Amino acid sequence: MQGKIKELEKLLSKDKKIVITTHTNPDGDAIGSSLALFHFFKKSNYDVNVITPNQHPEFLNWVPGCGKIIIFDHNIDKAKKVIENSDIIFTLDFNDVNRCGDVGLHFNKKKHKIIMIDHHQSPTEYSDISFSYPDISSTCELIFKIITKLKNANTIDKDICTCIYLGMMTDTGSFQYNGVNNETHLILSALLSNGVEHSKIYNNIYNSNNISKLRILGHALNSLKQISDFKTTFMCLNSKQLIESGYMKGDTEGLVNYGLSLKNIDFTAIFIEDVDVKNLIKISFRSKNLFPCDKFAKEFFNGGGHKNAAGGKFEGEINDAVEKFKTSLKDFKFKN
Ligand code: 5GP
Ligand code: MN
Repeated sequence: MQGKIKELEKLLSKDKKIVITTHTNPDGDAIGSSLALFHFFKKSNYDVNVITPNQHPEFLNWVPGCGKIIIFDHNIDKAKKVIENSDIIFTLDFNDVNRCGDVGLHFNKKKHKIIMIDHHQSPTEYSDISFSYPDISSTCELIFKIITKLKNANTIDKDICTCIYLGMMTDTGSFQYNGVNNETHLILSALLSNGVEHSKIYNNIYNSNNISKLRILGHALNSLKQISDFKTTFMCLNSKQLIESGYMKGDTEGLVNYGLSLKNIDFTAIFIEDVDVKNLIKISFRSKNLFPCDKFAKEFFNGGGHKNAAGGKFEGEINDAVEKFKTSLKDFKFKN
């Protein structure tokens, strides 16, 4: 990493206009890493803006600096201008330009230096410097590792650490996944030493549900089915259930994990019908142990992600998505 840090320092010593962007439907790690880097550069007087492709869920509104985010699809003209005028673009928590929607259309290889900072598998080549580390459990952890090696590391403060803690917590299922290691905990210790209020962050994320989310959870749990031969469960939510429950963005986040809480289950999926786009089913996959969700999502559902957490999509009726899931499981087990 040291060589890349040096290259980055060189860029930062001459170019001062920075844009930080992240993936569509930003989650805790996307918002946490973007705002951590935002505060870091702001403290060193860079001209820095965070541009997200679309709105983040309401449960992230408390994150320090959240109000300063420019949301591309709410403010296209301003966002375009800011991107066009920038020198350096940081792309956080994704590794394929398609994942940041229309924001990526305004990257200009001749004018912009693009820095990728990410922890997903199989990075594509679009950046000038690539910090791609699939073994690290969150982009926020990676941001900590990078900024503590930069010249202005002494400016790291409580706001920066709060943003970093957020993404480390949300991307590891509160520190339960395999990617968590001794270094993760050493970083957590450093964050707490900087004043991070971990219970407050946990409550802001996990104990601040809307009533609609709990109603939707009820529908999801009611739909739970087991495929015992494959140690698998799955759940479904159709758009009627979502709308009647008073669906708000973010309400379905994390529901998929309940399917793994049943004993003797290694793999689970949730099929969610899009409330706006007809015949679009978004699928989330989660696994324990060795089952590679990312391979499964890529092979059958046009998606990807990590070994224990991935996503994909299906065009058509939700029942057809489930049928495809069942046959894919058989094919997949047969081949692997
Ligand atoms: P979630 O199920 O929470 O939406 O996503 C879980 C993980 O899979 C995240 O790390 C996310 O980046 C990745 N992921 C979700 N949907 C897609 C997709 O359509 N394509 C790819 N390549 N990755 C996805
Ligand atoms: Mn992430």
